[in-house]
Amino acid sequence: MENMEKVIIIRYAEIHLKGKNRGYFERVFGVNLEKALKGLRHELRRTSGRYLVAAFDDKDADEICARISRVFGVHSYSQGLRVPNDLESMVAAAKTVCPTQGTFKVDTHRADKKYPLTSPEINAEVGARLLEAFPALKVDVRSPQSCVYLDVREDGGALVFGGFEEGAGGMPVGTSSRGLLLISGGIDSPVAGHMMAKRGMEVEFLHFHSYPYTNEQARDKVVELARILSRYTGGDAVMTVRVTHIQEEIHKKCAAELNVTLLRRFMFRIAERVAAAKGAKCLITGESLGQVASQTMEGITSSNAVVRLPVLRPLIGFDKEEIILRAKKIGTYETSVLPYEDCCTVFLPEFPAIKPKLSYIEEEEGKLDVEALVSEAISTLERIPLR
Ligand code: ATP
Ligand code: MG
Repeated sequence: MENMEKVIIIRYAEIHLKGKNRGYFERVFGVNLEKALKGLRHELRRTSGRYLVAAFDDKDADEICARISRVFGVHSYSQGLRVPNDLESMVAAAKTVCPTQGTFKVDTHRADKKYPLTSPEINAEVGARLLEAFPALKVDVRSPQSCVYLDVREDGGALVFGGFEEGAGGMPVGTSSRGLLLISGGIDSPVAGHMMAKRGMEVEFLHFHSYPYTNEQARDKVVELARILSRYTGGDAVMTVRVTHIQEEIHKKCAAELNVTLLRRFMFRIAERVAAAKGAKCLITGESLGQVASQTMEGITSSNAVVRLPVLRPLIGFDKEEIILRAKKIGTYETSVLPYEDCCTVFLPEFPAIKPKLSYIEEEEGKLDVEALVSEAISTLERIPLR
C-alpha cells in the first residue's frame, strides 16, 4: 500500500530525559544513532518520545536493528509500519503484521487522546476485522501467542508492530563526560569500558605494549577489541605507548617482587598525562578486588597515590564468571582469549608482593629517574585508527 511505510521504532528511557536536560540528551542520542547507522541508506526522524528509522533498504533491516541494539539510551525497538491513523489504514497494516493462525490480541496505545475511538474500542474494531480476514485466528487477551500493537500518534500517524526488542539501556554516550580506558588484551578491561559507556561516558583507549617483547599480533588483538567496543562506546582510535624501557629499568634496578607494582604506577602516571591531552576526566581500569596480586587494596592504594584523576574501576566487585558472561554478550570474549602476550606478563616475578608498603615502593622507585622515563614513554605515543 502506498501510504504504508516500513519503519524501525526506537524508544528511549524517558527517565533520563526529564527536565531541562531533555533536549540535550535527545540531541546527543540522535547524533549517536546517526553515527551507528552510518553507511546504510536511511532517514532518521524524531517524533515525540520516539525516533523512527525510515527509507531504508529491506536487506539492511536486520543490520540496522543490530546496530541500534548497541546504542546506549535505547530502551526498546521494533520493526513495524507507519500508516495514517485512520481505521482502514491501521487495519491494513495490522493484517501484514499479524500471523494468520493461533491466538492473538490487539493492544492499542493512544498518545492522541483526542482520537475519536478509545483504546478498547480500537482493539475491538481492529481485532474483529482481523478475525474476519483470517478465520484460523482466535482472540486470547490473557496469554496470546502473538500481539498486534497499535501506537496512535498525535501527528496523524499510527505505528503498527508485532513486538518489542530490548535495547542496551543506559544513557547516551557523550552525556557523562569522557574517560580514558586502560585497555589490555585481557577479558576485563573491555568490559569495564563498556560499563562506563553505558552510563553515558565517552571512552578513549590507551594501550601499553613492550615491543619487541610483545608482538604485532598482541597489538592487533587490542585494536580488534577496541574496534568491537567502539560500536558501543564511540571512539575511533587506540593510543599506544611503549613501556619496554621502563620495564627493563625496573627489572635491572628494583626488587623483583615489585615489578608489577612499579610498572602499574608508571602506567597510571602516563595515562594521566594522556588523559589531560585528550580532555578525559578520569581513568578506567578493569581491576576487580583480589583477582590477582596487584589488585589488593594495597595495590590499588599504591597506583592511586601517583595520580590526581579519579580512577574508575567498574568491575571492582565482580567475580570473574560475571565478567566473562558480560564479555561474551558484548562480543569481546573470543578475541580476549587469543593467546598473545601482554606487557604485564613480560618480566613477571615468580612471587609478586601482595601487600607492599608504600614507603618500600617509594624507596625502590627512588632508584629510577621517573620523570625522564615517563617523558620518554610518552614520546612513543602512537594513534592507531580503528577502521
Ligand atoms: P584484563 O583482563 O583487563 O587484562 P587483568 O585481570 O589481566 O585485566 P591486570 O593485568 O592486573 O588484570 O590489569 C589490571 C588492569 O590494568 C586492566 O584491566 C587494564 O585496565 C590495565 N592494564 C593492564 N595491562 C595493560 C596494558 N598493557 N595496557 C593498558 N592497560 C593495561
Ligand atoms: Mg591482563
